[in-house]
Amino acid sequence: MSESYDVVVVGAGPAGSIAARAAAREGARVLLIEKRQTIGDPVRCAEGIAKEAVHRHIDPDPRWIAAEVEGFRIVSPDGTPLEMRGVSSGEVGYVLERKLFDRALASDAVQHGVDVRVKTRAVGLLRSDGAVRGVVMEHLGERHEVEAGVVIGADGIESKVGRWAGIDTRLALKDIDVCAQMLVHDPSIDQSICQFYLGNEVAPGGYAWIFPKGNECANVGLGMLGSRSNGGLPMQRLRRFVSERLPKANILEVMVGGVPVSEPMHGIVADGLMLVGDAAHQSSALTGGGIANAMDAGAIAGRVAAAAIADEDTSRERLSEYEREWFELKGKSLKRDWVVKERLVKLTDEQLNGFMHSLQGVEFREMHVHEILVHLLKRNPKLLWWLKDLL
Ligand SMILES: Cc1cc2nc3c(=O)[nH]c(=O)nc-3n(C[C@H](O)[C@H](O)[C@H](O)COP(=O)(O)OP(=O)(O)OC[C@H]3O[C@@H](n4cnc5c(N)ncnc54)[C@H](O)[C@@H]3O)c2cc1C
Repeated sequence: MSESYDVVVVGAGPAGSIAARAAAREGARVLLIEKRQTIGDPVRCAEGIAKEAVHRHIDPDPRWIAAEVEGFRIVSPDGTPLEMRGVSSGEVGYVLERKLFDRALASDAVQHGVDVRVKTRAVGLLRSDGAVRGVVMEHLGERHEVEAGVVIGADGIESKVGRWAGIDTRLALKDIDVCAQMLVHDPSIDQSICQFYLGNEVAPGGYAWIFPKGNECANVGLGMLGSRSNGGLPMQRLRRFVSERLPKANILEVMVGGVPVSEPMHGIVADGLMLVGDAAHQSSALTGGGIANAMDAGAIAGRVAAAAIADEDTSRERLSEYEREWFELKGKSLKRDWVVKERLVKLTDEQLNGFMHSLQGVEFREMHVHEILVHLLKRNPKLLWWLKDLL
């Protein structure tokens, strides 16, 4: 038996649910499939996000907000802190309960008319004349074909949908942050701020984080470049980080995962197909944050998919409107984040300490990468050669 939808979305993470809802809002008949039996679980995320990024897509709900944070603390390798509290910026944010947040996004999509199927895994694509025409899916061991005008691959960092359509989504080891994270309970953790720890001893090519989750708990994690990690190294380093900084912590959960930190990816559409979110490497290469970008890209992709269906033109050229809009919206900042990351990972701990010392006493107005770079240049005019193309 074969079914058909206007749009089939593979993967019910933030990118997929927002894309599905956006397409349904424009009148498309949409199916959203998720291979897991529970949307949002298990969580592979530190769950931090700017408040304004959430508000763009869904009204805040205390059920999925674990903590509200009023600022950042960045700690240099020698322990020098740089704190930014309460300055106006979208960077001040929430720590989510993603198990509930992802489910809320999917429920919202359902309320807009999307059909959802869990425990349903895409195992291949239907193609004709070189174009994608639907999805082969598996549910409880049974295969099933669903035709679609457009398939949206929102299947995360391990995306297969893109590769099935001939898009090279492979990531080199130097373009992945390999992460380990623990949910810990420790009453000593500052619940009002997200903390970042830099340094080649702590996390080579990455950073460690402590994000509060309320009820005296926090996500404590560490990400390091795949090219600098061997086997279980991130978890070993995380254990050391926790035992040194939070010796009394009780560990409630552990997990490992990966974040794309590559140059922004082009060529994210094909005939009848679009990629969104981590599947299209849309997270910030500097911070690893990907929830907001996944939702922003999903909103554009879903809208363009529905319009293409209405126009009866789902060619690569027509769907490229999504890629153009995406790069207009985020291309510049994604590129800047990647260049900054590429330069940061080459710094020694002494250089990192020097930069952080130079920023002491700065009154930040905004918590933005651009503002940090501007102050870095003001305090270190010799860095003009290092920063001029980024400002
Ligand atoms: C350790 C860690 C910490 C992070 N911390 C943060 C943070 O604090 N803030 C932030 O913004 N970002 C963070 N990120 C990144 C963030 O989690 C991702 O960028 C975000 O989840 C991307 O959303 P997505 O919808 O593209 O993909 P995902 O959330 O990965 O969703 C993809 C979905 O597709 C499903 N799927 C996969 N294959 C198939 C298939 N064949 N058939 C059906 N379904 C399929 C998966 O089960 C999954 O539900 C972190 C990532 C990691 C690993």
